[in-house]
Amino acid sequence: MNRADQLIKLKNTAHWDIVVIGGGATGLGTALDAAGRGFKTLCIEKHDFSSGTSSRSTKLIHGGVRYLEQGNISMVRNGLFERWFFLKNAPVATRRIPFILPVYSWWRLLYYGFGLFLYDVLSGKYSIGKTNYLSKKAVIAAIPEIRKEKLKGGIRYFDGQFDDSQICLALARTTIGKGGTVVNHMEAEGFIYNGEKLTGVKLRDRITGETFTITAGAVINATGVFADELMQKDDHTHRKIITPSQGIHIVADKKFYTSKEALLIPKTTDGRILFAVPWHGRVLLGTTDIKVESTAEEPVATDEEIHFVLDNFNSYTRQHMSVSDIKSVFAGHRPLVKTHNLISTASLLRDHTVLVSHSGLVTITGGKWTTYRKMSRDAVNKAIAVSGLPFRRCRTKNQKLDLGPGRDHRLSAVSLHPDFTYTEGDVITAVRENMACTLEDVLARRLRMLFLDARAALQCAGHVCRIMQLELGKDDNWTREQLSAFDQLAKKYLPSSDLLHER
Ligand SMILES: Cc1cc2nc3c(=O)[nH]c(=O)nc-3n(C[C@H](O)[C@H](O)[C@H](O)COP(=O)(O)OP(=O)(O)OC[C@H]3O[C@@H](n4cnc5c(N)ncnc54)[C@H](O)[C@@H]3O)c2cc1C
Repeated sequence: MNRADQLIKLKNTAHWDIVVIGGGATGLGTALDAAGRGFKTLCIEKHDFSSGTSSRSTKLIHGGVRYLEQGNISMVRNGLFERWFFLKNAPVATRRIPFILPVYSWWRLLYYGFGLFLYDVLSGKYSIGKTNYLSKKAVIAAIPEIRKEKLKGGIRYFDGQFDDSQICLALARTTIGKGGTVVNHMEAEGFIYNGEKLTGVKLRDRITGETFTITAGAVINATGVFADELMQKDDHTHRKIITPSQGIHIVADKKFYTSKEALLIPKTTDGRILFAVPWHGRVLLGTTDIKVESTAEEPVATDEEIHFVLDNFNSYTRQHMSVSDIKSVFAGHRPLVKTHNLISTASLLRDHTVLVSHSGLVTITGGKWTTYRKMSRDAVNKAIAVSGLPFRRCRTKNQKLDLGPGRDHRLSAVSLHPDFTYTEGDVITAVRENMACTLEDVLARRLRMLFLDARAALQCAGHVCRIMQLELGKDDNWTREQLSAFDQLAKKYLPSSDLLHER
């Protein structure tokens, strides 16, 4: 998967059937759906694949136990069906993971037990494991760090886990395999029209500065939390439909949570749930849900959110994790679709929405990672209906995802950092095979170092950048700029110095 090859295809194609804007879960899923149906498909991403919300999730493939408590049964069922197909179509890159919900009162044991048995029942023939009750002893054996006082027992249930950036790359690669074209660092800057009908997109290559104009039968806006920006470019009277909600995650050393099973904290101090999930040899804690006024490309965790996650984790375990124990903290914005009389984002619609503008721009937003395939199918069906393209059946239900060639053992095995198994060869593969163009692309999303340990990522940034400079044939100026930009970025993945020095 090589960017230069994709650019050649982009330049040599006069007209596209379907152009998808946005290279997150929704955009890449939509591109795969369209290419799989035999449409001449282009997907463009302004930054890097999954650089938006899609690399900042809890990495769970789930129906959403929280939505069950809110009574949203059909949404949970949808999620549970999609969970099964997601796991089936990327078996090597996903896994089934047990969750334990510890309970501290007998009636809550019954209440949560009923909910989680129902969660499994709703999945029907797509169940991935039976829910069962656990004794106090069994909970302590499974999670040695759990708070023992007043513990009555627990409930074990199953969901899926994945690496969000890895699956985005797999979606891109599979799309290319189906004849589609996928380009990162390519921005949609505006639209072209024939009368009032949308007929194409103006593009700018953010690596070279080159601009292009392409024509298309249908254009799909899959820009997640940024969907309103393109809708406003298309129709200046458009009223915003997205209410962003911020969620953060903290990554810490495995010693704080040694279990192989995940923990579900059923009631946080703000009445939500919180997960502690083993991920890439560390523990991932999250998340929060706070309404934010505007979207940001690089959202930053607030001090209150960090305290909230640490306090709730510490109160359910015998741990005293503090700000200085944080290896990395990352924030993401959920693209929630607006409802009237908004009070809090925790109750906003998590279901997806497909909208068609007066000019024919199809916008798909909302939803969640787990349901990307269904969202993509709905978006392509709508694009077909709007544009008059011939109807062709969706083929993604059994479409296996192409994860690429994997580690190339002929390349250098020199380690990048003592705390990681990543090697120089992995950087070369990221550039040659996985379309990494910037230092951030490599350290944040090809290797997940920025998300796993921001200080370690900073420590090996120079080494990684020198390998990339050689691979990409760049000069020293490029390296200086990349290092400086990455330095600024990595600071956002660490707690602020005020918070670190707080007493
Ligand atoms: C904290 C948090 C935890 C979550 N956890 C889970 C979970 O565990 N499981 C789950 O199923 N879901 C989860 N979700 C939801 C899930 O992550 C999102 O629903 C999903 O990633 C949204 O994907 P997207 O492709 O719609 O948006 P994005 O990933 O944001 O993609 C949109 C892309 O469009 C690009 N773009 C914007 N403007 C342009 C332009 N003009 N030209 C070209 N490209 C452009 C952006 O750069 C961006 O990459 C979570 C969300 C959050 C915030």
